[in-house]
Amino acid sequence: MAGRNGADRLFYILTIAYVALMFLNVFLHSMILYFVGIGVFAAAAFRYFSRNTAKRRRENAKAEQAYYSAAAKVNKMKTRREQSRTYFFKRCPNCGKTLRLPRVKGKHGTKCPACGCKFSVRIIKGAKK
Ligand SMILES: [Zn+2]
Repeated sequence: MAGRNGADRLFYILTIAYVALMFLNVFLHSMILYFVGIGVFAAAAFRYFSRNTAKRRRENAKAEQAYYSAAAKVNKMKTRREQSRTYFFKRCPNCGKTLRLPRVKGKHGTKCPACGCKFSVRIIKGAKK
C-alpha cells in the first residue's frame, strides 16, 4: 500500500453511503439506485488505491469542510429552536443579518445593529410565562 491514498474520512463517508444505498435498495429494488451505489463504491475504491495523494487530500479537506459547515448549521438550528420560546428571530431586510429579539407579542420597531436599518416586526405569539 506504499504510495497509495488509503482510507481517509471521505473514504469512510463513501463506504457508509454505499452500504446505506444498498440497504435502501433491498426494499426499493431500483436499478438506478443500484448503479448509483456501484458508482459510489467505485469512487471509494478509486480514492483508496489512488497514488495522487495530494489531490485526494484536497478532496478530503473539501469534504471535511462541507461536513463541519453542515454540522455547524444543524447546531445553529438546534440552538435557535431551543431559544424560540423566549426569542424571535428576524432577518434584516437590508443586510440579511439575523436579529434575535425578545418574544413580546405585538408590533415593534427595531434597528439592525449591523447596518442601522430601521424596520418593524410583528410578533403574533408572545413568550410563554
Ligand atoms: Zn441590517
